[in-house]
Amino acid sequence: MASHNEHKYTPTTKFDYDLFVVGAGSGGVRAARMAAGHGASVAIAEDRYFGGTCVNVGCVPKKLYVYASQFSESFSGSAGFGWSVDNPRFNWASLVASKDKEIGRLQNVYDKLLRDSGVHVVNGRATLVDAHTVKVGDKTYSAERIIVATGGWPFVPDVEGKEHIVTSNEIFNLPKLPSQMVIVGGGYIAVEFAGIMHGLGVDVTIFERGDKVLRGFDEDVRDFLIAEMTKKGIKFMFNTSVDKIDLQCEGLTVHTTDGATIPTELVMYATGRVPNTKNLGLEALGVALDEVGAIKVNDDYQTNVPSIYALGDVTNRVNLTPVATAEGMALVNKLYASKTGVVDYDNIPTAVFSQPNIGTVGLTEAKAHEEYSDIDVYKSEFKPMKNTLSGSSERTFMKMLVVRSTDKVVGMHMVGPDAGEIIQGMAVAIRAGATKAVFDSTIGIHPTAAEEFVTMRKPVA
Ligand code: FAD
Ligand code: NDP
Repeated sequence: MASHNEHKYTPTTKFDYDLFVVGAGSGGVRAARMAAGHGASVAIAEDRYFGGTCVNVGCVPKKLYVYASQFSESFSGSAGFGWSVDNPRFNWASLVASKDKEIGRLQNVYDKLLRDSGVHVVNGRATLVDAHTVKVGDKTYSAERIIVATGGWPFVPDVEGKEHIVTSNEIFNLPKLPSQMVIVGGGYIAVEFAGIMHGLGVDVTIFERGDKVLRGFDEDVRDFLIAEMTKKGIKFMFNTSVDKIDLQCEGLTVHTTDGATIPTELVMYATGRVPNTKNLGLEALGVALDEVGAIKVNDDYQTNVPSIYALGDVTNRVNLTPVATAEGMALVNKLYASKTGVVDYDNIPTAVFSQPNIGTVGLTEAKAHEEYSDIDVYKSEFKPMKNTLSGSSERTFMKMLVVRSTDKVVGMHMVGPDAGEIIQGMAVAIRAGATKAVFDSTIGIHPTAAEEFVTMRKPVA
């Protein structure tokens, strides 16, 4: 065992490295850099792109495309503010090129950050050979500990014609923007891309197998978002499943299980993601996986093979970038800096970059009623000030859940512009245990939408 001291890790291992990280995504990069910073000798292998899903085919390009798509409403809303914007046109290839430039820059930043912190970067696909050995190409590397941070991959159910569809991996680089598309699924990616593509001028229909999108979110939030997206012109087909997809000379035809046929140009599946654990050598090593192939870990991110750890999406817990990085930091602090902090999975705020945005932290109303017998619900719905002149009919929704007996705020939800930005701040208050009285005594910032959260006076009946 390597010895630890308070500030700087002192390596004493007989291995090539103290730590070998497989996967240079959000979690892996953070773990590798921090471990090296604590004095450990570290290598990291990456076979596709530095920065992982978030930087290359996730959060970053997605948010850039959200910005791109918002211009159409800005142009149409500008007349009410005195502007005339004649005939704005959009060029998809130009957006893709700008995005590629920015992603290329970020990839280099990640690569440089790793190298500058002394991490040995290995390009190629890694497999685990034994509990202390990783193979990349024809080279093997031994390490006292291995972290598997290989992320996830889009899941597409086995449907006839699946070879004709795209996923979030391909959507960013489509050779051409379609005029219409079907999105199958109703999670984060489906509603975010529905907004992006609609804003860029694509006629979008969401096929959702249930009766609402965003299962697990507060019911009011789900209903409100569906209503707002519908007002914008996005179509929803609920309780709809795909039977098969045919390729025709003019495009695709989607056949639903209840016999409808819908012609379209493009079909995107956004039906969840699966952990990247295939052909990594894990089964042969006896590393325990769950029923969807996620690596099982204990509270210290350790698998049942003591020298092998796993974190981020490959463990399929809370699949968000800040969670993967927090896990990387917690693990490395424990291993190389003798610090104990663990990640607290309660009250993790999240945003869905749909249009309008959703921001949420804490319990949904349904969960709050399950956990407490005395929940007060505060709600507010209004037309954002900008829309008094823009002509847009989009409204904003806010909701706050308070335990009457303790006055503690246990859930906050918002659907509206910048909901993610606003709820990030609210999450700090919730984690600090703020009561409704604290919100009530906080002076608002006027005129903002966020001030509504400190002026909600009466619970709904
Ligand atoms: P990843 O970032 O997926 O990194 C894993 C890395 O391992 C990859 O680079 C992969 O190439 C590499 N790898 C895999 N196998 C091997 C191998 N055998 N050898 C070497 N390298 C290997 N989260 C948010 O918080 N906010 C968002 O707005 C958001 N938007 C998203 C939008 C989309 C379209 C998607 C798909 C995801 C989004 N996410 C978002 C989720 C976020 O991207 C993930 O939670 C995060 O990237 C997980 O980090 P990770 O380190 O676990 O895995
Ligand atoms: P989600 O898990 O969010 O949603 C998957 C959707 O697909 C659900 O509506 C689910 O329906 C549906 N589905 C699953 N299987 C099938 C099937 N066989 N047929 C039809 N529909 C199906 O996954 P996403 O792919 O949207 O995103 C993956 C994850 O990435 C997210 O959960 C999130 O953790 C992360 N992410 C985060 C973002 C952010 O922070 N803003 C943005 C994008 C992704 P049902 O509800 O009925 O199971």
